[in-house]
Amino acid sequence: MSILTSISSVEERAPLTRRRLIDKHGRTITDLRVSITDRCNYRCVYCRTGNQGAVYSELSIAEYLRMVRVFVELGIEKVRLTGGEPLLRKGLLELVYELRRLRTPVETASGRPLDLALTTNGHLLAELAQPLRDAGLNRVTVSMDAVVPDTFARITRVPGSFDRVVVGVRAAKQAGFDQIKVNCVLLRGFNDDQIVPFAKFSREEGVIVRFIEFMPLEEDRCWSLDTVLPLEEVKARLEAFRPLVQLPPNAASETAIRYTFDDGVGEIGIIAPVSQAFCGHCSRVRLTSDGKIRTCLFSQSDHDLYGVLQRGGSDAEMAAFIERTIQHKEARHHIGEPAFLKPSRSMVHIGG
Ligand code: SAM
Repeated sequence: MSILTSISSVEERAPLTRRRLIDKHGRTITDLRVSITDRCNYRCVYCRTGNQGAVYSELSIAEYLRMVRVFVELGIEKVRLTGGEPLLRKGLLELVYELRRLRTPVETASGRPLDLALTTNGHLLAELAQPLRDAGLNRVTVSMDAVVPDTFARITRVPGSFDRVVVGVRAAKQAGFDQIKVNCVLLRGFNDDQIVPFAKFSREEGVIVRFIEFMPLEEDRCWSLDTVLPLEEVKARLEAFRPLVQLPPNAASETAIRYTFDDGVGEIGIIAPVSQAFCGHCSRVRLTSDGKIRTCLFSQSDHDLYGVLQRGGSDAEMAAFIERTIQHKEARHHIGEPAFLKPSRSMVHIGG
C-alpha cells in the first residue's frame, strides 16, 4: 500500500484537545459523508438520468484526505464514502487505508479510529470487498431496490446488474464486515411489491434491510407525495407477513427505526425523512466531490471548502471556515410544504 507523501504528517501530529462542531440549533455534528466522485455506472430512475453529459468533478485523493483530516480534528467521528459510485474511484483503497489512520480526538489522549463506512451500488463489490476490508473499512451499505432481476434492471437501467450485486453482497459478508446494510428506496407502483421479498432476503442472507422513503432529490422530475411509501404503510405490509418487534436505536442520531420479527430473525430499518423527519437530531454534514460543504441534503447553496484549500489556506483557516459554515446548517427540510424548493443539486451530485 503506497503512502501519500503530502499527508504523511498525519500520524506524527500531537493529540489535539477535544473540539466539537455544534450548530446554532445545538446539534453536534459527528458524521461526515464524502462524495469521492459524481460518476456512476447506474442510472437509477429515482436518482440520475445519465443525460447530463460527461462533465465530472473529482479532486485528488490527497485533497479529500486533507479536508477530511481537518473535519476529524473538529470532532467528526464517522466518515462515510459515497458518490456517485465510490467503487469507480481510482485510489479508493489508498484513501481508505489513510483514513483508517486518522484519530478522532475523543475519549483518550491518542483519540480513537474513525468509524469508516462506504455506500455502494454493489456492481463492483465482488472484486473489491476483501481489499476494502483489508484496507480498514468497517462497514458497507449496498443500495439494492429489488430482489428480482427484472425489476432491478428496470430501476438501475443496467441489464444483468442484479446477479452482480447479490454476489457483491455475499462477498462483503465473506470479507467479514461488521454489519452489512442493504438500502432500498421504495417507489409506489415501481418496487413496492418488494417489501415482503426484502424481508425474506434479510432473514435468508443475514443482512439488515432498510427501506428509505423517496425524497425529491432526483434529476428527473418524477417525485410527488403519492410516489412515497410512508413508514406506517411499510410497517403494515411487513406486519401482514410476520409480527414486528421494535428494536432500540443504536445511537441518538440513528435515522432508521429498527425492527426484527417475532422470531428474532432478520432486521429491518425504516428511514422516513418525508413522513417522520428526523432533522431535530441530524448529526450530518456532506462534502461534495468538488469539495463543497453541504449542511443539508436540501440546501439551496454550498460552501467552498476546496476554494480555501486552493488559495493556500492553512489547516486552521480551513477549520475556521468549517466552523462558520456549520452555523448555517438548516433547522429542517420543507419537503411536502408549499414553500419547498428543490435543492440546488441532485443526489448523485451531493453524495447520498
Ligand atoms: N452509488 C452509491 C449507491 O448506489 O449507494 C452511492 C451514492 S447513492 C446517491 C446513495 C444513496 O442515495 C443510495 O442508497 C440511493 O438509493 C439513495 N438515493 C438516491 N436518490 C434518492 C432519492 N431521490 N431519495 C432517497 N434516496 C435516494
